[in-house]
Amino acid sequence: MILIADDSEVILDIVKNTLVLNGFKNIIEAKDGQEALELAKKHIGKISLYILDVNMPRLDGISLIKELRSFDASTPIIMLTTEVEKSKIQKAKEFGATGWIIKPFDAEKFIQVISMLLKE
Ligand SMILES: [Mg+2]
Repeated sequence: MILIADDSEVILDIVKNTLVLNGFKNIIEAKDGQEALELAKKHIGKISLYILDVNMPRLDGISLIKELRSFDASTPIIMLTTEVEKSKIQKAKEFGATGWIIKPFDAEKFIQVISMLLKE
């Protein structure tokens, strides 16, 4: 199961469609950090990858990493960031993010990264 969280419906659709087109199944979506946290707790032990936006309402992506890492230390976390949010990458890494992807992303590279993480 892959959990995607982004407050942009457009980004959610792009990420989901890219994953589906490349054969990934069991994708769940959240529109903000709080919803993502609730879904993660509901599906504890079943999620193999998190793809998270940095700026989201209710609970931002960086605080969300901290929350997720309190009960899930090992599942890879990929952050979706924009160029201007690059400064937040360091903080995200400190809190336990595995990697990041700069939006707008290249679909092929995105799938390469996802496939690699899911194989580990
Ligand atoms: Mg956002």
